[in-house]
Amino acid sequence: MIPALMPTYARANVAFERGEGAYLYASDGRRFLDFACGIGVTGLGHAHPHLVKALTEQGKKLWHCSNIFQIPGQQRLAERLVARSFAETVFFCNSGAEAIEGGIKLVRKYHDDSGHPERYRIITFHNGFHGRTLATIAAGGQEKHLKGFAPVVDGFDHVAYENLNEVRAAVTAETAAILVEPVQGEGGLRAARPEFLKSLRQVCDEFGLLLFLDEVQCGMGRTGKLFAHEWAGIKPDVLSTAKALGGGFPIGALLATEKAAVGMTAGTHGSTFGGNPLAMAVANAVLDVMFADGFLDQVAEKGERLGRRHDALVRARPRVFSELRGMGLMRGLKCVDGVTAADIVAKLRDRGLLTVGSGDNVVRIMPPLIVEDRHMEEAFAILEGATEGIEPAKAAKA
Ligand code: PLP
Repeated sequence: MIPALMPTYARANVAFERGEGAYLYASDGRRFLDFACGIGVTGLGHAHPHLVKALTEQGKKLWHCSNIFQIPGQQRLAERLVARSFAETVFFCNSGAEAIEGGIKLVRKYHDDSGHPERYRIITFHNGFHGRTLATIAAGGQEKHLKGFAPVVDGFDHVAYENLNEVRAAVTAETAAILVEPVQGEGGLRAARPEFLKSLRQVCDEFGLLLFLDEVQCGMGRTGKLFAHEWAGIKPDVLSTAKALGGGFPIGALLATEKAAVGMTAGTHGSTFGGNPLAMAVANAVLDVMFADGFLDQVAEKGERLGRRHDALVRARPRVFSELRGMGLMRGLKCVDGVTAADIVAKLRDRGLLTVGSGDNVVRIMPPLIVEDRHMEEAFAILEGATEGIEPAKAAKA
């Protein structure tokens, strides 16, 4: 018999009832150090006092208001994002997938308005992940997400990540944009080299394509800059973000240049809940913290330290890990053949450290941006202890 709760997730047997900073407390009394952050969502940790205050104060005033009226919190949040990024305009929605869907629509509209409705195809990358709606599973192109949901939404051409030759070869008269994650979150924590992102910018300029970045997971401070592409010194035309923008309150945002968004006029796109006053109060509070002097610099610095320690761990555990991936506070430990990332994640959880598996047999490490040295040391000790003595299954059989 099907459970009352539709069983679309393989859930671990733990329920949390409270969170504080970097820690989560389960209903059975156990305490966990949270280096998963609800998969990159609780960037400022749990129950951050400034966010709690913003949410509760707004909660007493006004929860919802239709977008047929002015919503001052939206105006403020948009202006603040515009002031700190490449973007000149922002649309608010409720999730990452919606932010990507909005971007796909924007890309099509841009070319349609330019007199080229035939330019609707978007080049995307193997192991990419852009969400679970029909268009975003087509953009991701992963068989495991598409299976059973045919027909696949048309308009996406997949090439190898970081392979410029394949990108160039994929451009046709129908190509509209390139959609890429600067750091692949679900696909195994590969971070694009800055030169690759620069080359994508050049290809877009050469062929009149829009560069569309998916920073749903790697954006909002995760790498030590507001957006990960800033490390490459490039500017996209369109960018989607979500997750940590709301610190745990559902929100997504579509950022674009004026040129790219010129066709997004009244009536072209919308969302009932998108940008509602509760979400705006919390997201503005998130920006208060993230935009404070030095906040992102200290994230970058902690990210470097985390990287160095994990690099040492990879070298000390060559029978468990083969490679450290990612950047900033978005890291991945690639497991060797015969060691399963899911097993490592479970062992770490048993010892009180939450991490999350990623594609390509990678253990994903995403501490909150407010992580302190003592948390990193605690996590590191758990990682060392849990991986000691592990042998790859194949080697054990030999
Ligand atoms: N894009 C990326 C890079 C993601 O990591 C995710 C979610 O993990 C999404 C899009 C989809 O976001 P959501 O689950 O909020 O729809």
